[in-house]
Amino acid sequence: NTRVLTGITTSGTPHLGNYAGAIRPAVAASRRPGVESFYFLADYHALIKAQDPARVQRSTLEIAAAWLACGLDPDRVWFYRQSDIPEIPELTWLLTCVAGKGILNRAHAYKAAVDRNVAEHADPDAGVTAGLFMYPVLMAADILMFRANLVPVGRDQVQHIEMARDFAARFNHLYGEHFVLPEAAIDENVATLPGLDGRKMSKSYDNTIPLFAPKAELKKLIFSIVTDSRAPGESKDTEGSALFQLYQAFATPEQTAAFAQAFADGIGWGDAKQALLEVIDGEVAPLRERYQALIADPAAIEARLREGAAKARTIATPFMRELRHAVGLRDLG
Ligand code: ATP
Repeated sequence: NTRVLTGITTSGTPHLGNYAGAIRPAVAASRRPGVESFYFLADYHALIKAQDPARVQRSTLEIAAAWLACGLDPDRVWFYRQSDIPEIPELTWLLTCVAGKGILNRAHAYKAAVDRNVAEHADPDAGVTAGLFMYPVLMAADILMFRANLVPVGRDQVQHIEMARDFAARFNHLYGEHFVLPEAAIDENVATLPGLDGRKMSKSYDNTIPLFAPKAELKKLIFSIVTDSRAPGESKDTEGSALFQLYQAFATPEQTAAFAQAFADGIGWGDAKQALLEVIDGEVAPLRERYQALIADPAAIEARLREGAAKARTIATPFMRELRHAVGLRDLG
């Protein structure tokens, strides 16, 4: 069996990028024979960027409901909240003790923060928490705990999977073969969606289109996407157009080809935005209805998550016992 693992950070409301980039492909993959899927709500990761407790809590509920609305079947897959598994931070420490600091120095997110400070002539580590620095180790623990062999990621995350492999290999070398070395899976058909401002759509940039925004709000947001000043009748570029990229993620190849032709023929931006609204709403509307029903019953979601945690710990607890023994810590019984 192939074990596939996907997490979403509970740092805000799930958005179209999370759906097209993670939820939709992961749910499709979970239905293939021979695939064992692990989905988790990355709430420890959220604390690195979201220090608003109400936001983290609300996001946890929303992302759990989003997974369920999009067709995740909790009886067939492993579905849990990261912070319900105390073995994950425990494993994080064991991995911290084999992780090379020099490797962590090169992690993109940390480096980007340092580079920004240097460019602004500030102290290189100003405002950088140890949490941001250590985040690849926590991510390695998420993956290695469940012996996931495939981790679908965007290109910017490949480095983190390589780090997880590196920590796992060092640990195995010191203590015996305990970890499976994971591989990154880059799906060429999964695009990175741009947000309202043209940058990557991301909860931390506040440039998102919420996955389950009511249609009126969806319309308002789509009509606020930044476009150039070309008038109707003037030919438009599909290249670099956020509008076009979003359309492509929700349309069939035929619809996309027709849309590209409409760009060349000078479709007006208003009409293009209306077409985008229809194609997104066509796919999302039935999911939105299920989501509304789910989110109205937080206690039922909480119960699902607790069941999921108990199931995930049937793997994590004995594995942690094995690892504690391997490194020379006492058996907790
Ligand atoms: P944050 O800003 O808190 O990191 P995020 O929304 O950018 O949040 P994550 O929660 O870390 O991202 O990502 C969860 C999953 O969604 C990952 O698999 C990631 O690749 C995918 N994803 C996130 N943003 C996009 C996007 N704009 N396009 C496609 N996939 C995305």
